[in-house]
Amino acid sequence: MKIEFKENVREDIKKSVNSAISLLDDIKVQGSNRFDDITICITSDDDFLCEIIFNQLIRISQKTIDIIRALSIAHLSFYDIYCKGVNPEGQNIELKDSKWDDSKTMLTWATDNLKQSTFTELPICKREIETSEFVDAFKYSLLFFVSHELFHSVNNGKFEQPIEEERQCDFDATLFLMNSFSDNDYLLKAKGVALGLMLLNVYGIHSDDFDGYKHPFTYNRIIDNLSLIFGPENDKIWGFVVALFALHLTERGIKQPTKKFENFYECIIGYKEILESSITKN
Ligand SMILES: [Zn+2]
Repeated sequence: MKIEFKENVREDIKKSVNSAISLLDDIKVQGSNRFDDITICITSDDDFLCEIIFNQLIRISQKTIDIIRALSIAHLSFYDIYCKGVNPEGQNIELKDSKWDDSKTMLTWATDNLKQSTFTELPICKREIETSEFVDAFKYSLLFFVSHELFHSVNNGKFEQPIEEERQCDFDATLFLMNSFSDNDYLLKAKGVALGLMLLNVYGIHSDDFDGYKHPFTYNRIIDNLSLIFGPENDKIWGFVVALFALHLTERGIKQPTKKFENFYECIIGYKEILESSITKN
């Protein structure tokens, strides 16, 4: 992969992208050399942009990377502050801890800019919320988006329906990252994939648009991809995903499941059913 930065791209973005791409080598992702001829171009565009052109050029905007970063850090810090040890049931979490203030600022900024209801600069937050673990999870999340686009170059033309190609690119991207030789950071990589797919659900929940025509429904994308790797019994990953849905449904004032579930996987299916029925009502 070649990396190209357009004029006006910030230095911290360049650093993040370079170190995210070199993670692919560090964790020895199998077969990444098949993408040697693809250029990843970072633009200074002010809206969400992540696409592949002519199977050879991936364009991602600086704004997209800022949103992925802000959401990743805010989501991880939310989980850290509030969600250790909660039960698999409908969650109405009271967000009163002062440690949450900075993350909340990032979350609100990212949600508004993702919805494109505002175009503002990423707010400066106290750096201590950005632990190195959080930053690595952000890089895996960014790599999930990059990998999805990379696999379009492999899957292009293979399917009758474009939505099938999208589904396959998700699966390939997930397995590409998770099946690297190094098992270090296994859960962190999974959280990176989850954070990437959660971003699409954040857009869905706050804009009432879960796609389902160009791409599979956003909630199916997160459940189906993580199911490639984890069974229903894995409370660590499903608990993380449930917490993030609980956060955004609370923010949006959407009623949450109230029953007590067997495990977090069943709970996430409960959340999915609520979002599904919200679509049928609209
Ligand atoms: Zn795609």
